[in-house]
Amino acid sequence: MRRLWSRVVVLSLTVLVFSTCPLTAALPVYVTFWFDTEDFILSEADDAAMRLAEMFAARGVQATFKIVGEKARVLEERGRDDVIAALAKNDIAYHSTDHSVHPTPSEYCRDLTWHEGVSEFTRREGPGLRTLRKVFGVNASCYGQPGGSWTPQSYAALRAFDIPLYLDETSHVNVNDRPFWYCGMLNILRLGDAVIRTGWTDEEVKQACEKFDRVHKKLLGEGGGIISIYYHPCEFVHREFWDGVNFARGANPPRSQWKRPPVKSPQEQEQAFGAFEAFLDHIVRHPDTRLVTAREIPSLYPDRVYSRPLTRRDVQMIAEAFGKELSYVDLGGKIASAAEGLLALAETVAKADSSSATDEISLEFACGPASATQRFVTEGTYSPTAIREASQELLDIVHQNTQMPSVVWVAGKPVRPEDFAVTLAHVVASGGLSGDVPLRRGELAAKKHVADDSARLWGWVIFPEGFRAPHMMEVAKLQAWTIKPAVLRRP
Ligand SMILES: [Zn+2]
Repeated sequence: MRRLWSRVVVLSLTVLVFSTCPLTAALPVYVTFWFDTEDFILSEADDAAMRLAEMFAARGVQATFKIVGEKARVLEERGRDDVIAALAKNDIAYHSTDHSVHPTPSEYCRDLTWHEGVSEFTRREGPGLRTLRKVFGVNASCYGQPGGSWTPQSYAALRAFDIPLYLDETSHVNVNDRPFWYCGMLNILRLGDAVIRTGWTDEEVKQACEKFDRVHKKLLGEGGGIISIYYHPCEFVHREFWDGVNFARGANPPRSQWKRPPVKSPQEQEQAFGAFEAFLDHIVRHPDTRLVTAREIPSLYPDRVYSRPLTRRDVQMIAEAFGKELSYVDLGGKIASAAEGLLALAETVAKADSSSATDEISLEFACGPASATQRFVTEGTYSPTAIREASQELLDIVHQNTQMPSVVWVAGKPVRPEDFAVTLAHVVASGGLSGDVPLRRGELAAKKHVADDSARLWGWVIFPEGFRAPHMMEVAKLQAWTIKPAVLRRP
């Protein structure tokens, strides 16, 4: 009877909590926990993954496990149905076919063109994803690269894999240390102070909880946001990473020579799990906090540029913004990338004065150009017809290729897309095509969000000594046409 009465009380309280939810839900701070589940050598790491997966399930919440294809394969081979079942209570994501076995993605994409890199990433990383899908029965919710082995070409391949989110922590591309769009994919790639981890001592847990409270408060002040927390199951049980002891500095021993990394003592392992559990409980109990998996994150950041047409006023704002800087444009509640801005301007100019002219413009997505043209004109004056035809041709190419061309042909002359964009912006800002149009020069300011090649960028211990990728980072900068901040959905 007492038990029944207490259930009534709990039920009433639950109703009360949910009925007040709209007030607290107005400003949530989302927290995403993710585990790079990659060590396919140390079998103790299998048990660590299971223990962490159950830790979340026991609290009625989920983490995201980014699993390496080879790891999924060995779990099955070792008969670890218990580990697979525990992981499946959480969100399943992808972390490459073989992780640190050379060549890793940056190594094999380094000197490839855009299209070659997309094909090669698909060829090498497709098999691991198929293993993952077979073992867990779902597609991956997101991808993140092994270590620092990032490549721009991965994005087009991931879109074709039907993976909508890139979730990791690296400095290759960054927009204000917050979520952003790049190549048509949502990225949680560099969150600055919103990346929080705890060490294994009680003092470190205390500091991490205090940092969580500080950042949580700051994000509430920003109108909500997301905190990223990541670990590797193997780091709870090892003293050294499995790949560091086998594949560091380009080493690539055959499977028969792979070494087991040294493991922690049972007491040290318990300390690590205990510390993490205390940190997790602090967050789970924190008010105005909601744990989300990678599978839920895309719905938090809808891209409103595609959900409803752009208006004439939007296009006018883009034209004026491009006059100052060729980059993404904040239209208030939705943000257009430089590529989307260019296509909106082209549509406006192509359709002006025609029977199909409308007040609304629906955009088609386009990747940035595959290459930078080496031969182009930098000046000249062009007729309204030539500008209009070039605008329509640009739209036709994008419609056919889902990619911006490297060159826009205007009256038979090769023009850089940057120059064409600011030329169109001037046309639209000044009221439309009313006479001959002088070509203007533009530079893609959004490129500043993509890192320059440097030794520091490739500091991952697995890379061969002195690894650099200047060509690949130039390919990456061409995709800066698609960069823009992601806007959190308002309740
Ligand atoms: Zn990893």
